[in-house]
Amino acid sequence: MTEKTHPIDPEKLDKLAEVAVRVGLNLREGQDLLLTAPMEAAPLVRRIATHAYRAGAGLVTPLYADDGVTLARYREAGDHSFDRAADWLYDAMAAAFTADTARMGVVGDDPMLLAEVDPAKVSRANKALSSAYTPARRMITNFDINWNLVPWPGRAWARLVSPDLPADEAVARLAEAIFAACRIDRPDPVAAWAEHNAELARRSGWLNDRRFAALHFTGPGTDLRVGLADGHEWMGGASVARNGITCNPNIPTEEVFTTPHAARVEGHVRATKPLSYQGTLIEDIAVRFEGGRIVQASASRGEEVLLKVLDSDDGARRLGEVALVPHSSPISQSGLLFYNTLFDENAACHIALGQCYSKCFTDGDLSGEEVAARGGNESMIHIDWMIGSDEIDIDGVTEDGSRVPVFRKGEWAD
Ligand code: ZN
Ligand code: ZN
Repeated sequence: MTEKTHPIDPEKLDKLAEVAVRVGLNLREGQDLLLTAPMEAAPLVRRIATHAYRAGAGLVTPLYADDGVTLARYREAGDHSFDRAADWLYDAMAAAFTADTARMGVVGDDPMLLAEVDPAKVSRANKALSSAYTPARRMITNFDINWNLVPWPGRAWARLVSPDLPADEAVARLAEAIFAACRIDRPDPVAAWAEHNAELARRSGWLNDRRFAALHFTGPGTDLRVGLADGHEWMGGASVARNGITCNPNIPTEEVFTTPHAARVEGHVRATKPLSYQGTLIEDIAVRFEGGRIVQASASRGEEVLLKVLDSDDGARRLGEVALVPHSSPISQSGLLFYNTLFDENAACHIALGQCYSKCFTDGDLSGEEVAARGGNESMIHIDWMIGSDEIDIDGVTEDGSRVPVFRKGEWAD
């Protein structure tokens, strides 16, 4: 197929690559770039490499994932395969990050790839991978280097989002939704991102000035008080990595977020969107917290996977993130369910199970013990799920118990 008849507009795809490099990574001259991507995303990866070298990249190294090889493993590999991961590869990633290599992940894989394989094998393989990836992942969650995730409108993903459309039309529709969400449809996308980053900074600044002790979420099936970590800081949009580079880790992004207190979450909450977790769709999640810990959990679909995830380690039943997103965000307004956290989390307020962002504290460079002492959670998982909708109200609760409206009917209250 030539590019002319391709369902993805090549000019917009090129702008997406430019935004990923200039806004997402803000790649520094001479910096190396490590890219991971599904094979299908090669047209975007090549454009990213072009813009990266134009920006002065030293070396761009792509690592492609192949769905066919992944499926072959689950179908044919012996039992010994599922507690293993390519440790050497993840060690090399950690070495690259230590040497100040920037990290970009192109996201667009088949969300349902593993839907038909044994969930016990998936869980074991994920656990092995998670553990092998821990040193490299810590550098990402500690924000040691500039990193960025950027979407690719993959065919299987597009089919899941628009099951009633012919394949090419589904890809075209997803591509246009991605371009809108990433502000690629604006006359000057790089300038539009500067404006958007300023607005997110204003919202986080307001929350930081209030110094709420907790947020109280209420809505259908939800009455949840999320205590915030001591000395927490709200962040959103562009932020400065520890290597000094101001970058936008997520393209798109609509959230302002911070670190909850791992022991101060009480009440019950119901998910407002399905969670697509490594090939399994988990629907209608409902959980109850006591003393920060999930003591009861259910789902109408994918419950077995959810319960396994909660047993990953000690921190998996506690919160590592709380994030606010207005219902009027462009992603929510698209009306699409993307089955992809990068998009769906930016359509709604969300919480995440597991690892916290140690960067979300006012006094910066904290050790692991200091983060834990302030209530920051530690886990090998970090899984966002959506609890916001146009029916959710949020109050900020101050230390002395007074309440300030933060969200009303899914929108900023002021
Ligand atoms: Zn988030
Ligand atoms: Zn998150």
